[in-house]
Amino acid sequence: MRAAFISHSDCGAHDTGWGHPEHVGRLRAITRALRQDPEFFHKIEHLEGRHASVEELELAHDPDYIRAVRHVIEQGGGRLDADTVTSRGSWDAATAGAGCVLSAVDLSVSGVHPRSFSAVRPPGHHAVYDRAMGFCLFGNVAIAAHYARQKHGLQRILIVDWDVHHGNGTQALVQSEPEIHFVSMHQWPWYPGTGAADDRGPHGSVWNIPMPAGLPRDKYVAALERGIDAATNGFVPELILVSAGFDSLAGDPLGGFTLETEDFESLTRSLVARAESWCGGRLVSALEGGYAPDRLAEASLRHLAALGA
Ligand SMILES: [Zn+2]
Repeated sequence: MRAAFISHSDCGAHDTGWGHPEHVGRLRAITRALRQDPEFFHKIEHLEGRHASVEELELAHDPDYIRAVRHVIEQGGGRLDADTVTSRGSWDAATAGAGCVLSAVDLSVSGVHPRSFSAVRPPGHHAVYDRAMGFCLFGNVAIAAHYARQKHGLQRILIVDWDVHHGNGTQALVQSEPEIHFVSMHQWPWYPGTGAADDRGPHGSVWNIPMPAGLPRDKYVAALERGIDAATNGFVPELILVSAGFDSLAGDPLGGFTLETEDFESLTRSLVARAESWCGGRLVSALEGGYAPDRLAEASLRHLAALGA
């Protein structure tokens, strides 16, 4: 089955400056790596996503916050928090980032492309209801989860977040809905400081897996697999969403995990097998972190290959 590679040219319009770790060169590195392997390039379906509407952003965010973000950007951009900067192109980028994942959900549920990887920026998993945080403006994956329920009538959704940082925003935006199960493995202690193992959310639908830095890589893989097992014990998801942060790779400047690119291939294969047995293979993955561009690109290609190139 051909996996879809979804992106949008507007994601490059979010200009954070080259000194910022979350710069446009991250996406360019992925595109370059794809073009350097023509055989692989032609095995996957390349699609442009769409922009999310304001109403769709409101599935997870405060309307006043959305207006405030738009206003700052229309004034030329500026800092939304200590780490999160915007430029004049950031509104189009952020709505494209969220919109690509919504396109991916549509393609998945319709059966046209059950599996995809959306290479988007800005990332989303730190953004909370009424605040930008940690390079993130809108919760791309959390919005997609609510969208899948509302637009497509799905009920049970599993979100797996393997970014090295806790997906605090995703947790905050989905934990009131007991039929969205959220699994996050992250470095501990580390930014943003949330994600303790005993933080299970108000309905027990959150599985946080805090892990120390520098362990042998198989420990991380095994811990995440156990977390997914726990989150799906007696719970059969109708869609799997992945917050694919590749800053959990060894050598990432913003993390201390030791994963290698082949670990993302094997983790992805495992999730694909689960998706095949649970929900017709429906697996929608979206880029989060990953700040060593060449490593990010290699891991993204391994991830895509495992999704079904
Ligand atoms: Zn991260």
